[in-house]
Amino acid sequence: MSDRKILMIPGPIEVSPEVRAAHDGPPPGHLAPPVIEAFGSALEQMRAVWEAPASAQPFLIAGSGTLAMDMAAANLLQAGDRALVFGTGYFSDRMAEILRRYGADVATEDAPVGEAVTLSQVEVALEREKPKVVCVTHVDTSTGVRMNAPAVAAKARAAGALTVVDGVCATAAEALSMENGDVDIYLTGSQKAIGLPAGLALMVASERALATRDALALPPPYYLDFHQWRPIMKAYEAREKAYFATPATNLVRAAAVGLEQILSDRFDGETGIRARTARHAHVACAMEGAWQAYGLEHLCRAPADRGVTLSALEYPPGVGPALVAEVAKHGVVVAGGLHPERKADYFRVGHMGYAITRVDMLEKTVTAVGLGLNALGADVDVEAARNAFRTTYDSES
Ligand code: PMP
Repeated sequence: MSDRKILMIPGPIEVSPEVRAAHDGPPPGHLAPPVIEAFGSALEQMRAVWEAPASAQPFLIAGSGTLAMDMAAANLLQAGDRALVFGTGYFSDRMAEILRRYGADVATEDAPVGEAVTLSQVEVALEREKPKVVCVTHVDTSTGVRMNAPAVAAKARAAGALTVVDGVCATAAEALSMENGDVDIYLTGSQKAIGLPAGLALMVASERALATRDALALPPPYYLDFHQWRPIMKAYEAREKAYFATPATNLVRAAAVGLEQILSDRFDGETGIRARTARHAHVACAMEGAWQAYGLEHLCRAPADRGVTLSALEYPPGVGPALVAEVAKHGVVVAGGLHPERKADYFRVGHMGYAITRVDMLEKTVTAVGLGLNALGADVDVEAARNAFRTTYDSES
């Protein structure tokens, strides 16, 4: 590694040398055979990472996670339809705002900052609102709160609603299988646990989601319409030429490699996506050892409600947002708080994607946070934290 700082924010993140190599180079045309092959392979691999049935449709589109959120809203709802959003932070608030832009009648059920919405609240809200569509943020990057998205989706389905899960800070790190048909759209952006540079919106839509789009009275905005993209995705998966709007060809090449790396993972007796999610949980646990050694508290107090992709940690007494710059002096970029109500109270460390396979990067992060804390007078034991981290990290079975 050069003296370049490592990027340990909750996205964008470090990417593997193989992904970088696949991305680099002169831009290929969208009809070049290697791009068609990479596109087809990326879509097939998305089915495996999302654990999606054959009837579901993966979409890989130039844009960011917010584009995928917009597409979900535009293809499932029209003016007057009822939607219910479970609020766990900044990004679920964003989803509610997007839905309103499509004229949906949006109800929100919000948890206090740093908490998840409980499943009994979910049941009551479903009964009260009778929504067409339910939206849940799998891990809200602003708070570190994880919702039990599979359980919410099962309840929503039983209540006759469709479920959209924002997996931007979760997909390929938190367990979620589309196999049983409970989740209707699971969406993400390329710059998070999928392990690619920013610039792609990735989502898989269930058969019910596709049928819901078919039944809309008015078509969604042009670039967002499943009907425009679906024939293109089908063509690429069949390794045929297709054009609707120019794909991000370098990123498509990178996606084929990045998804392959996820699917070739082996960890704790598991393979593929299951290994990858288990590895993320293991690393989150190892990082937790270090945070405890530093005496740091999470914004999300309940361990069972914390995502594995990031740590949102409160500044200890006497330490504030200046910590982020102190940590950067030791070669690691972490992020400040994001939730509008609490952002001066905490900082965020990402641990997802390629970095979870790099013990040197994780250990450097633990060290840099400790040195930063010390510089601001917190007097923590960096060696003890590193040992706590290593003990768990090395306990990989
Ligand atoms: N949802 C979540 C949970 C996110 O973390 C983010 C990005 N940080 C978004 C949505 C929006 O994604 P993007 O910035 O790629 O548009």
